[in-house]
Amino acid sequence: KLPPKADAKGKASTVFDTPRVAANATFESLGLSQPAIQALATLSIKAPTEIQTATIPAMLAGRDVIGGAKTGSGKTLAFALPILERLARDPFGIAALVLTPTRELAYQLAEQFLAVGKPMGLTTETIVGGMDMLAQAQALERRPHIVVATPGRLCDLLRSDGVEQGKLRRVRTLVLDEADRMLTPTFAPELAYLFEQIPKSRQTCLFTATISDAIMDLAKRPPPPGKQAPFVYRV
Ligand code: ADP
Ligand code: MG
Repeated sequence: KLPPKADAKGKASTVFDTPRVAANATFESLGLSQPAIQALATLSIKAPTEIQTATIPAMLAGRDVIGGAKTGSGKTLAFALPILERLARDPFGIAALVLTPTRELAYQLAEQFLAVGKPMGLTTETIVGGMDMLAQAQALERRPHIVVATPGRLCDLLRSDGVEQGKLRRVRTLVLDEADRMLTPTFAPELAYLFEQIPKSRQTCLFTATISDAIMDLAKRPPPPGKQAPFVYRV
């Protein structure tokens, strides 16, 4: 079912009037290259889901993205694939930071990044609470292409003496997974600290099962001068 094209006041909404994506897309037609497609094939993943069809081209084009789709709809690969594809073309250390609310979710995300990224020669490290601080500091020192983290532990680590300043200065893509949960007061101080460490020119992508008021507000906010509004897609 298509979302309404106008809000209650009859004003055209620019937020959820994104055209529906084609149902017959392939990973190739979305702009992925053979190494990624082959890694997907080994996982028996052959065709993109709707959210993937919508967000992969937008993220490859460098746009900010807000993606809403229910649990189990493939949101992880919807952001992991464009991140890995861009890195395969131009690999450098800690280029993508993916934040998620819990340790379990961080492991699940990292698993998918590794399953597709490792055969492509791209590295992922997971930074979560409950693990040895020194080992995690060493993981950051290895300058993985992608860091998947819970905000609390990553802040602790960046503030600790064992880690040099500016570790996140090359991040060009920031993803907030479970964005509705991330954009609550619980994580606000940690996110504020992390956002300071990342270049302002970054691509920012939010993925969520539920579009909360906080996310709606972000989607509607006019973009700063010279910046395109986010690509917003809700399945
Ligand atoms: P969520 O939208 O809840 O974040 P996930 O990204 O964790 O969902 O995906 C759920 C499952 O679907 C994962 O096991 C993943 O490997 C699988 N999956 C993702 N994309 C596809 C696809 N295009 N075809 C088949 N399975 C897929
Ligand atoms: Mg998810």
